[in-house]
Amino acid sequence: MKILVNGIQSNLRFSSAHVIPGHESCGYIHGHSYFVDVEIEGERAGDFEFVVDFKDVKGYTKAICDELDHRLLIPVYNDLIEFKDFDKEKDSIFNLKKKHTVHFKIDGKGYSLPGVDCVFLPLPYTSAEELSKFFAETLAKKLSETYDNLEYVAVCVNEGIGQGAEYRKDL
Ligand SMILES: [Zn+2]
Repeated sequence: MKILVNGIQSNLRFSSAHVIPGHESCGYIHGHSYFVDVEIEGERAGDFEFVVDFKDVKGYTKAICDELDHRLLIPVYNDLIEFKDFDKEKDSIFNLKKKHTVHFKIDGKGYSLPGVDCVFLPLPYTSAEELSKFFAETLAKKLSETYDNLEYVAVCVNEGIGQGAEYRKDL
C-alpha cells in the first residue's frame, strides 16, 4: 500500500536561494519557495498496520526543509564553484560550515558570505532533480532506522507551483 503526503497542505516547505552555475538565466543567485511531496510504498505492519507513521514522515521531512530554509544552497561539488582555503578532494564539508566567512567564486564571480548564511551540500547542482534525490536518500536512510517494511521512498521537490522533479529511492 502507498501513503502520500502533500507538501503544501502539510507545510513541508522551505524558501531558499540558489544558483545553477553556467546556466544562462539561472546562473544568477535567485530564490524559490519550495514545497516537498512524499510518496512511500510498503507492506502494512506493526501494532496499527500502518505503512509508515505520518508523524515520522512529516517530522523527518520537515527537519530537512528547516535545515535548508532561509539559506543560500551551495552545491560544493559543482565544477564551476571554487573555494578559497578549502580543497574539495580532501577537506570535509563540515569545515566550510564552521568558517566565519566563506570566500568562493561561482563561474568566475567572487563572493564572501558568512558560513551561517549558507548550506553546503555534497551535490553537483542544487536543481530540483538533485534536491529531490538528496531528500529521498536522506529520508529513506532515516526511515530505515526504524522501518523494514518499505519498498521505496519517492520525493518530489517543487520549485513553486507547477514544476518539480521526483526521485524514487528503492529500499
Ligand atoms: Zn532556480
